[in-house]
Amino acid sequence: MTDDRLERIAEFIAPLRVTPGAKVTLARDFDPGERAGFVRKKDGLELLDRGIELMSEYQARLAAQDTYGLLVVLQALDAAGKDGTIRHVMSGVNPQGVSVRSFKVPSAEELDHDYLWRFARALPSRGEIGIFNRSYYEEVLVVRVHPENLERQRLPRSARGRDVWRRRYRDINDWEHYLTDNGFRIVKILLNLSREEQRVRFLRRIDLPDHNWKLSPADARERDRWDDYQKAFSEMLSQTSTDWAPWYVVPGDRKWFARICAAAIIANALIEIDPRYPRVDAAQRAVLQQVKAELEAQAPEGAAPDPFAASRAAGDGDAPGRGKGGKKAKKAGKKARKAEERARREAGRHEAAAETAAEGAGR
Ligand code: AMP
Ligand code: MG
Repeated sequence: MTDDRLERIAEFIAPLRVTPGAKVTLARDFDPGERAGFVRKKDGLELLDRGIELMSEYQARLAAQDTYGLLVVLQALDAAGKDGTIRHVMSGVNPQGVSVRSFKVPSAEELDHDYLWRFARALPSRGEIGIFNRSYYEEVLVVRVHPENLERQRLPRSARGRDVWRRRYRDINDWEHYLTDNGFRIVKILLNLSREEQRVRFLRRIDLPDHNWKLSPADARERDRWDDYQKAFSEMLSQTSTDWAPWYVVPGDRKWFARICAAAIIANALIEIDPRYPRVDAAQRAVLQQVKAELEAQAPEGAAPDPFAASRAAGDGDAPGRGKGGKKAKKAGKKARKAEERARREAGRHEAAAETAAEGAGR
């Protein structure tokens, strides 16, 4: 990946970032219908593919280095496209390196603990990307819009006074700072949906029988509290976008555009972490060379001592079928190998030798 492309990603997401300390009014400052000059979906989809490719590459390094973790917080109102965004954006990464957790109304057990408890237990480990589909930010959103949720938390009087929200912003900022200091980077994405687009998506969920399950009457009733949510979002963005864990507001009315933005934001966070494959030192390399000699000595009769090295020397670039050589390079390598096999057979070489070469190549 050239620096140029990395810069373009950073440039692309810059307008979505909430400047720490800025006072945000969501409806005024962010347009849910924005698409950043992309006229056609097709142009955008190419960028999405690039973002996904980049994430895959960086995630492999993140896992190998095993030092940093990445937490992606995804917040939005119903029907904003959280699930679809996760599905699309993470489609290219190794499932072993990703965990996705969703958070519903807290259970009795969860209510028996402090409000961050269940989220702390769900954090990604080092080397992992963790996605929170809804998060501790519900604690200053739905809980704020519906204070009966706060009642259920059985807080001591001192913790549920009028400054409860200010305290929660502080708790969250401090907690995120602590996590960041300990190697866990955090990026936060708000999928910003317009009221009208939500109405249309709710109707779609009613009109398509296979989608009926997605809509509860309560979801539709929440629309009555639209302005309260916008206010809660605005204050959340103003109070909790920090240098160490910034908020990004992603225009949500066009799903394809929202996905490009989310992929770019996550890719950018990985680029900033800049994880590297661990390198072994000279002593360890010497041991590996010793093991190599032993493995080569074990080659069966007629087999190349190291078919991998042989195919690399033949200009294959990377191991056959391994690593991440470009698709084109891989195809070219395959073609070259096939031609080589053919030539060998035609020259009437020893059949067993041709077979071993094919085996080595086809791995
Ligand atoms: P969904 O993500 O659509 O399956 O819905 C999950 C529901 O759980 C939403 O209505 C959220 O508002 C609600 N929820 C999530 N976290 C909390 C919380 N801390 N307190 C109360 N309700 C919550
Ligand atoms: Mg729902």
